[in-house]
Amino acid sequence: SIPTVQKKIVLLGQSSVGKSSLVYQFCKGEFFENQEPTIGASFLTKELDFSTHKVSLQIWDTAGQERYESLAPMYYRKAAAALVVFDLNEAYTLNKAKDKIQELSTNGEPNMIITLVGNKCDLERRINSEEVKEYCEENGIMYFETSAKTGKGVEEVFQKISRKFKLPKKKDFKN
Ligand code: GDP
Repeated sequence: SIPTVQKKIVLLGQSSVGKSSLVYQFCKGEFFENQEPTIGASFLTKELDFSTHKVSLQIWDTAGQERYESLAPMYYRKAAAALVVFDLNEAYTLNKAKDKIQELSTNGEPNMIITLVGNKCDLERRINSEEVKEYCEENGIMYFETSAKTGKGVEEVFQKISRKFKLPKKKDFKN
């Protein structure tokens, strides 16, 4: 069998931008029009198969942390990557996302891969992608646009992040 590395990924961002929906779409290929709010900490797992190794992702949904700001640092502790999600149709959610990115850069794990995700690209958009791309270039973070509803771009986010994970030395592999 080929070696497996485990990585924790967290999703952050304003309530209702589609964090739970993205996790569900990626892990189960399902979408719900009325996604129940997540209560308490929860994660789903998904294994990605690369030719030399497997990456087992432990994907943490927000756990309603947007309502309990003080829980956030505990929530993203030991995370290898953070997806900061906003809604392409709600400008204020982008501002919130930028605040979150700032916070992660200051308080997050030093090597954490931070990505910005503009979700709900299936709807009429109110945010100019070019400006967001510029912001991401300036800050050295990856940018993706997704629809948790149609699935567009969702797989790509997790694939691209997982490719960036540095692999541990052989002795550190789980098997
Ligand atoms: P969270 O609070 O950030 O976890 O957001 P949810 O995943 O609970 O989604 C909030 C609402 O937006 C739900 O009604 C979802 O069905 C809807 N939603 C989530 N993602 C999308 C998307 O990509 N497109 C559309 N049209 N609706 C979405």
